[in-house]
Amino acid sequence: MTFNDLNLVEPILKALKEEGYTTPTPIQEQSIPILLGYNDLLGCAQTGTGKTAAFAIPLLQHLFNTRSNENQRRTIKALVVTPTRELAIQIGESFTSYGKYTGIRNTVVFGGVKQKAQTNELRKGVDILVATPGRLLDLMNQGFISLKDVEFFVLDEADQMLDMGFIHDIKKLIAKLPQKRQSLFFSATMPPAIVQLSASILGQHETVTIKPKQTTAEKVEQELYYVSKGNKTNLLIELLNKDALTSSIVFSRTKHGANKIVKHLDRAGIPAEAIHGNKSQPARQRALNSFKDGSLNVLVATDIAARGIDVDDISHVINYDLPNVPETYVHRIGRTGRAGSSGTALSFCAGDERAFLKDIQKLIKQDITVIEDHSYPDDGTEVLTVPQKRNPNKPRKNNFSSGKSKRWSTRKPASRNRSNR
Ligand code: AMP
Repeated sequence: MTFNDLNLVEPILKALKEEGYTTPTPIQEQSIPILLGYNDLLGCAQTGTGKTAAFAIPLLQHLFNTRSNENQRRTIKALVVTPTRELAIQIGESFTSYGKYTGIRNTVVFGGVKQKAQTNELRKGVDILVATPGRLLDLMNQGFISLKDVEFFVLDEADQMLDMGFIHDIKKLIAKLPQKRQSLFFSATMPPAIVQLSASILGQHETVTIKPKQTTAEKVEQELYYVSKGNKTNLLIELLNKDALTSSIVFSRTKHGANKIVKHLDRAGIPAEAIHGNKSQPARQRALNSFKDGSLNVLVATDIAARGIDVDDISHVINYDLPNVPETYVHRIGRTGRAGSSGTALSFCAGDERAFLKDIQKLIKQDITVIEDHSYPDDGTEVLTVPQKRNPNKPRKNNFSSGKSKRWSTRKPASRNRSNR
């Protein structure tokens, strides 16, 4: 299936093509037709599955099809509520990218910054508002935002919303929404409190569940390298220069990061290609073909781009960056050790990734062997940009070593202040 099969309007198809999207992710394939049919949706899926586009594309299409006269003042017709500022910004950027040829306008409001720039944007008139709950209610109370014309409501990351204590804000908000609307509710998990909340928001609805693979491929040998951010590339070069790394996928969290890794490897005389959303489909295919036929040993990929990689004998998966979603770790390492061959997953962990490591450990319930015998062990001297304020009179808490889980605690946490995710 391609996006062309989803009955999307031309301005959206054009934008998706420019984004480098050809095939919809499973959540997009399942949700877009449901949403284009004006049904409510309960989506059980997490970030990284492509869920933003799954709701942004149909909302843009609805608004595009019913857009009114250019000269008429725009009012908020779609409201997306999400728990954090980062998510809000990302969602706003997605609407802007996918909607760039539709003439539909969005803006983003979140707390922690002055409201002036946000209220200025609101005054100009927008069709879509992306908001975090606190600032949204605040601006509503001040009269800057009215929800009376809202036809589409999205509650994103509902479980995180509850964990962050937003339940009362959400309830107040729901009370202000028009009864007649299309509602979308997304959550990575579905504990009873979330099911209850979803029932208070959704009418008759369809459900789409995208399950992350839960088990770690047993054949995969897993190794962990504590290394500072600044030394990750050096360590990668050292490891790739070892003979046994014949076909390796290096995972980077960002497209920009993937390009940088390829550049550094190139300088070190190691041929590598990046595959990610900013690369054209032919470029990705070329890289993939060279990797498959063995003429290229190293692919550097982002998680979504790697979805299309179907190669059986990958010898090594290298987590250059640890994923912030633990299930993604399982997905990544599952790419090696397939078709009866054994594989190895090497993970780099910098100081500010230790919280991710803890989450992964919790999920896989498996030991990862810490490799200390390498040239760039993390001695904790790297100065990180976001120092953590600490009461000097209080003893430092050691988050990462508990006498029992020794394999995870062979390195002590750094003596310097660290950023804490
Ligand atoms: P999300 O789960 O919405 O945070 O999306 C994760 C990442 O996947 C984002 O960087 C998107 O730009 C990218 N993405 C979403 N859908 C697709 C697609 N169909 N093809 C390629 N990349 C996608």
